[in-house]
Amino acid sequence: MTASADGDVDATDESVVYDLAPGCTTEDVEEGARYHATVNGVVEYGVFVDCSEHVSGLVHDSELSGDYDVGDELVVELLDVRENGDLSFTEVSVDSPRTVTVDPGERASVDDLAERVGSTVHLDGEVVQIKQTGGPTLFQVRDGTGVVPCAAFEEAGVRAYPEVDLDDAVRVTGDVERREGALQLEVDELHRLEGEAETEVRERVEAAVAETAAPADVEPLVDWPAFEKLRDDLREVAEYLRRAVLDSRPIRMRHHADGDGMCASVPVQVALENFIAETHEDAEAPRHLFKRLPSKAPFYEMEDVTRDLNFALEDEERHGQRLPLLLMLDNGSTEEDTPAYRALDQYDIPVVVVDHHHPDPEAVAPLVDRHVNPYLHDEDYRITTGMMCVELARMIDPSLTDELRHIPAVAGLADRSKADAMDDYLALASEEGYDEDDLQDIGEALDYAAHWLRYDSGDVLIEDVLNVGGDADRHAELVEFLSERAERDVDRQLSDALPHLEYEKLDNDAHLYHIDLDEHAHRFTYPAPGKTTGEIHDRKVQETGDPVITIGYGPDFAVLRSDGVRLDIPNMVSELDDELPGAGVSGGGHLVVGSIKFVPGMREAVLDALVEKMGDAELDESLRSTLVQDD
Ligand code: MN
Repeated sequence: MTASADGDVDATDESVVYDLAPGCTTEDVEEGARYHATVNGVVEYGVFVDCSEHVSGLVHDSELSGDYDVGDELVVELLDVRENGDLSFTEVSVDSPRTVTVDPGERASVDDLAERVGSTVHLDGEVVQIKQTGGPTLFQVRDGTGVVPCAAFEEAGVRAYPEVDLDDAVRVTGDVERREGALQLEVDELHRLEGEAETEVRERVEAAVAETAAPADVEPLVDWPAFEKLRDDLREVAEYLRRAVLDSRPIRMRHHADGDGMCASVPVQVALENFIAETHEDAEAPRHLFKRLPSKAPFYEMEDVTRDLNFALEDEERHGQRLPLLLMLDNGSTEEDTPAYRALDQYDIPVVVVDHHHPDPEAVAPLVDRHVNPYLHDEDYRITTGMMCVELARMIDPSLTDELRHIPAVAGLADRSKADAMDDYLALASEEGYDEDDLQDIGEALDYAAHWLRYDSGDVLIEDVLNVGGDADRHAELVEFLSERAERDVDRQLSDALPHLEYEKLDNDAHLYHIDLDEHAHRFTYPAPGKTTGEIHDRKVQETGDPVITIGYGPDFAVLRSDGVRLDIPNMVSELDDELPGAGVSGGGHLVVGSIKFVPGMREAVLDALVEKMGDAELDESLRSTLVQDD
């Protein structure tokens, strides 16, 4: 309610009598407050009074001290607002009343609060977070157009309105304020809605959420029939993520820590952070509701999920946050991911996957809510995750389009995609001033930065390398510096490793190169074993022009690269696991590029069996495409 009187008005001050303006409704009254009323009807059991055109009720005989006729005036106190909306009053006598006029509060929506700073409004919505601070209790309330913090003060550090829970439908009456640039409501009154009022508000919120969550209808950057099959899946994910934002559900993103994984994750990160900022009045919301983290392994490790779960539970406990949604990018499609997903399932944390690694849909489907993968539509890894996620990011925030036009080409080169669309993507990047060497350098720089960032996301650094939202001059110099360092380190690694490369010709005539990286490569530096193996492999493919397989191994792992050989690494891993009891073989990756693990004491047996299987594989010139660097 808007009380127009000088100074602060205390509703519990018994000398205050409110005079409701004609337009006031029951939303403007409060139990225990006193009102000027006019009798509009006399019945056997009492009198009916009007406080405004919309506020009327009964003063029961037992609550009346005088005799009244229609048109008489009296002062009443509001006893009760029943669920059906009926009001009951008691007559009071006030010695020297102080009359305060009340104007009707206006119903506001979150997206128009900025125009109402300084006024009192009603906001109907749903509570999406309750955080107890050292001062007030902060209720984050959404109405479908956005989310606003509503500060209710009971006593410092004491929970206000303890009867109100997360997800309740509520009506907030409060003053619109701007605090440190951000809008909030200073709560006068907050109550839980029930019955019809609740149903009506929930329906209104859901309709507004559905409208706001709808993804932008953007045309793909390039015309590409293979990609069309994935477009609806990506739209669904865009809507799912926008809805999560409107639910104030935190999003935790995990991505493969390589070039394609970064090209996938950064655009979606920027898009989601923008959408969070757009829909949340709390300036800290993007920081609280989004987190990007690299995964070192090409799958979701138990170590990572345990950390993620632990953070989520702490945030829930400390900040009243919902449990998050997990968004896996360029990762997350295989059986190896399922133990981690099961851990999340203990807490019903939803999982969304966008990936182009060879999937195991049977293992993964029961545990993930959305799974986008070209293999599920008879396409393959050539559609890289970066290509998909640039379109996903544009569906979430179409204003990013111009900044992202060079990213699919970086992703494609980093993953050595031989997609039909690569020419178009390169042309698009060239329009933005990037030639193929520039794009290769960005990929190398990303790889190098990711290596040294280890478990950090390096948000600003990576945005500068990708030139998304950063300073273009800084970008060029940084990429040059990082890519030159990367190249120098690769050259050093190869010049020390190559003299120790061993060779044999397989039964199928493919060339096999293998090297003990533990003995003959620098350890704990760049490039790591996966990248080292890939670089050796590339040189041999170029030198020979024939089908080539390269194995780089350590005490308990082997990295596999192949060109022109019809390998099925996930299948070989499961066969080795069956055939070699006690070897503990696990791993996978793409069909023809991957990595496996085993127990050190069985290394020789595993490698021998592996080489034998590779010698049995068919050659296939059409498979001349090397892939991702799976570290
Ligand atoms: Mn990839």
